[in-house]
Amino acid sequence: MGKKNQILVVDDSKFNRTSFANILKNDYEILEAENGKDALWVLGKNKDTIALVILDLVMPVMDGFGFLEVVGKMEEYRYIPIIVSTTDDNEENEKRCLELGAWDFLSKTFHPDIINFRVKNAIDKSKVRELEYDALTDVYTQQKFSQATREMLDNGKGKKFAYIHFDVERFKIINSFYGSKEGDRLISKVGQVVRETMECYEKECTYGRITGDIFGICLEFEDVKELSDLVEKMQNQIKRFFVLYYLETTAGIYVIEDNSMELSAIYENANLVAQKCKGQYLFHEAFYTKEMGEKVLREQAIMDTMDAALQDEQFIVYFQPKYELKKYSPSGAEALVRWQKKDGTIVPPSEFIPLFERNGFIIKLDCYVWEKVCQFIRKELDAGRTPEPISVNVSRVHLYNPKFLETLVDLVEKYKISPKYLNLELTESAFFDNVRLMQNAVKYLHKAGFTVFMDDFGSGYSSLNILKDIDLDVIKIDMKFLSKGGEEKGMKILEAVITMAKSLHMPVIAEGVEEKQQVQMLKRLGCHYIQGYYFARPMPQEKYCELIIKKDE
Ligand code: C2E
Ligand code: CA
Ligand code: CA
Repeated sequence: MGKKNQILVVDDSKFNRTSFANILKNDYEILEAENGKDALWVLGKNKDTIALVILDLVMPVMDGFGFLEVVGKMEEYRYIPIIVSTTDDNEENEKRCLELGAWDFLSKTFHPDIINFRVKNAIDKSKVRELEYDALTDVYTQQKFSQATREMLDNGKGKKFAYIHFDVERFKIINSFYGSKEGDRLISKVGQVVRETMECYEKECTYGRITGDIFGICLEFEDVKELSDLVEKMQNQIKRFFVLYYLETTAGIYVIEDNSMELSAIYENANLVAQKCKGQYLFHEAFYTKEMGEKVLREQAIMDTMDAALQDEQFIVYFQPKYELKKYSPSGAEALVRWQKKDGTIVPPSEFIPLFERNGFIIKLDCYVWEKVCQFIRKELDAGRTPEPISVNVSRVHLYNPKFLETLVDLVEKYKISPKYLNLELTESAFFDNVRLMQNAVKYLHKAGFTVFMDDFGSGYSSLNILKDIDLDVIKIDMKFLSKGGEEKGMKILEAVITMAKSLHMPVIAEGVEEKQQVQMLKRLGCHYIQGYYFARPMPQEKYCELIIKKDE
């Protein structure tokens, strides 16, 4: 047999305490306290083992009301039922006790059966409650929530329901900066806002804590505006409470099309929307759309086939030549990956690179591309030609890979080529992620003999600072970033960038050049290199070979 549950009897009368003890001592271990203050002390020492409190109201030092008030404010005692023992039936007192969180009443006529039943029922109920309610937030646990939601949907024929995935942005960061205690406080507050808001909701609803900082709300509604309003109300309340952290919450809303749909699919769709909102500064709630779902399916299909495709050499490397403006002749190239499906269709990198950056596969793919480029350079050297450098793209994800530098160095050693033939393009926005990390990476790359380009210069927000802090070799500026602010302004900016780059002794490559006018302007401004459709599109390796052989002739 397991240990007996403890019952704490709080009463200033020794007679009363003993009477209760005699009735209950067979099934429970009895603890006693003479007043509210003592009781708090005993409770504090035995909070994990006390299953119930029997509380007298009129006592010296701290009375029953005082005790209820203090305990009501303490999270950890939430599930301990308190039964108030009374001698008279005073309605006012009873009402006040219930308001303060008492569970039930017992008359001090000491009728053993009644006392035993009431105590047993309260303890059983509290045990169930403990299983069904999340201790931190007092909303349903995930399991209970799912069960209640399933029931609500099954019984709600003809009614419209929506599911809201509600969570805190960057919760993990707050947790690690301020500690898990503060994290718990935050979750508990969010839970409270969800609970209080939904308690006032007039139509049918269920709500619970799914895991961590994620809450689920399923509710009947008529008009989607109701949903947005509700979400905004909660978001504002939470924000007001945590002004210090610039706290943002995200709500992914899924309008349930068919009430018999699997809950897991409902959760997934809403979660998907929430992920889309993450890191967006302007919106923190969104509704699920068909396109989102289709995108996920497409991405899933890519993920299912990517490994095999790499094995199968379906990824091929194209070369886009760069031209030296002074001579109008090709001078090296950028390697750009393509996915050539078995049926011959070519998928552009915009379709898969962002996904590979999220799932980490980019590490493998980039290494593959780098190796292909090294093989190409080796071939050129073996054919007795002096290769022009080829630049490869280096996803920001590599910076978090401790083997990054080693991989590159191993590659050039494996093919016995000088690192000067391999230029590395790092996109500008990667520099903002972590300046320190970048500084070090660039330092080591330089030490190993590589040249580092800043790709997409001007696409971010503090490009100039980055130039100051990190010792880069070449700037690439994309013409599309300039056309945004109008032609004339764009030209002025370009001119300023080229002048500045010159004074820093950094060559500039203008990218995305499509028109003759642009070429003439760039020439006038003294730009060094051009890469763009005007001269050449990215092309297969054989085509690029022909081009450079022709140049040498
Ligand atoms: P990026 O590094 O900025 O590459 C330049 C992109 O501009 C290429 O698109 C190129 O085809 C395109 N482009 C070149 N000239 C012109 C032009 O005159 N007009 C227009 N409209 N576009 C031009 P692509 O090949 O589709 O690649 C897109 C992006 O995908 C690249 O942008 C790069 O960020 C990424 N990417 C491509 N290959 C790789 C790779 O092997 N590894 C990694 N990590 N990223 C890659
Ligand atoms: Ca690039
Ligand atoms: Ca670029």
